[in-house]
This record gives sequence, structure tokens and C-alpha cells, in this order.
Amino acid sequence: MTIKQEIRTGKCALCNTQKTLQNSHIMPKFVFKYLKNSGVTKNMRNANKPDQRVQDGHKEYMLCKTCELKFGELETLFAKKVFHAIRKNDNNFVLEYKGDWLYKFYLSIAWRYLYQCIMKNEFEDFHENEIGDIKKKVEQWRAYLNGEEKECEEMITLLPFTTKYINSKIYPDELTKNYFSRTIELNKTIENNGSWGFVYVKMPFVAGCINFKNSNVEDMEVPIISKVSGILFGEPFKVPELIVQTMQFGFNSINAAAESMSESQKNKIIKDALKMKGKSKE
Ligand SMILES: [Zn+2]
Repeated sequence: MTIKQEIRTGKCALCNTQKTLQNSHIMPKFVFKYLKNSGVTKNMRNANKPDQRVQDGHKEYMLCKTCELKFGELETLFAKKVFHAIRKNDNNFVLEYKGDWLYKFYLSIAWRYLYQCIMKNEFEDFHENEIGDIKKKVEQWRAYLNGEEKECEEMITLLPFTTKYINSKIYPDELTKNYFSRTIELNKTIENNGSWGFVYVKMPFVAGCINFKNSNVEDMEVPIISKVSGILFGEPFKVPELIVQTMQFGFNSINAAAESMSESQKNKIIKDALKMKGKSKE
């Protein structure tokens, strides 16, 4: 069965030119592909919108083909060097990288996400001035991602959820292996006093925190992504309290959603899962 794609013209959110827009994922496609090919769909829920199944990923008309391809290159690199590298051999995971692709990969997801939040006015619990600041950031990030600006000051941290990390148990007891290896999450968090804010991009095996409001770098024991070159290990790290709270919130939302599902929803998910079993593995 072929589904006809709707053709939409508009201003590309990244390069600002009037073009045909692509209907694309905010969270990269390889994540959904992996979840689909690797088992039961029960846990494939987006913590931010627990009632919405995300196995096909949320899509938006946002970028032209050229810009879409630009982000696609970052996604391909990340999938190979980080996502699948941890998945296949996480005990020996080491990433030596050069350039800003890892930084830009996370920034591009946070940018697409916050851009959509602005479009849809999804800023519950945020103050007017905080929303104003985020709008400025989103424009700065756009210019940086589009190569118009050379600098971007945001600190981005990477949290590899390797087996070593999971076995270390240096996180709240209630978080399970399932949380680290099966769930996806995309949300924004701001500290009560407004001093720290970040976008949390969680996929199986790895998460990134893109800070849009300055955080206390000295307090961070988590690996920070460089724009020049760096080396990352899969060793256990201590996550700051606010990130722990974000994790717990996401985990609880996923559980609440699973509990509140109707029998027919459950049956449909099982049916879909069975249908998927025949498909090729990654
Ligand atoms: Zn474009």
C-alpha cells in the first residue's frame, strides 16, 4: 500500500528560504527503526505525551530537502559511532571524535524540538521572560546550525547508559534497565528558581542534555561534548539531581500510560508487535 505524501511549500525553518518542505522526525528515524525491530512495543512510549504512541515517530513539516540531508548526515554518524556502538559492545565503548558533529547532532534535535514548542505554544510552567529567552536561543542555534554563526556557547552533556552504568546502580532504585534501554523521551526542564534549564533528549542507551540556561559547570561530573575533539568512555557518572528528577518524571509518565491503557489498546499493540516480528533486523 502506498500512502501519498502531502506536498507542502513554506519557509524552511533552518535556511529561511521558501521551498518544498519535508515531513520529518524530530527524534531521528534510526531510533524508531531500532525499537520496531527489537521487540514488543509496550514500552515504546513518549514520556512527554504518554497517550501517544511514538513507534512511527512524530513528524513535522519543517525543513527543506537540503537542510534535512544536512541533519541526516549528523544522524548517520551518531547512529554508527554512538548508538549502535553502545548497543553492540557497550563494555568497551570508547568514542574518539573530531569536529563538531556530535555537538551539532544534539543541538539540532533540541533546536527542532524547541522550535516546535514555540510554534505550538507549549510552555506550561514557564515564565514569559523564560519563553522570550528560549526564542532568542532558538534563533541563535538556527544561525549556528546553518553556518551563519561560528559560535554557540551552550554546554551539552552526554550520558551513555552502558551496562557498566546500569550495573553501577548510582541512580534511583525505581529506574529499571528497561528505562535505559527501551524508552524515548524529549522534554524541557527548568529549575524552580530559573537558574538552570535544559532539553533532555533520551533514546535507548544514551541521553543528551542541551542546556539553554546556564548550569553550574563545576558541579557537572557528566561528560561534556566538545566542538573540537574529544574522547568519551562508557564509565559510570553521577547525574545531577535535576536530571535525575527529569528521568524519574519520564519513567513515571511511561508507567502511568501503560497502566491506563485500555484492553483494546493493549491488544492492538500486541497485534502490531506480532506483525513486526517478521521484519528484517537492523
Ligand atoms: Zn532549508
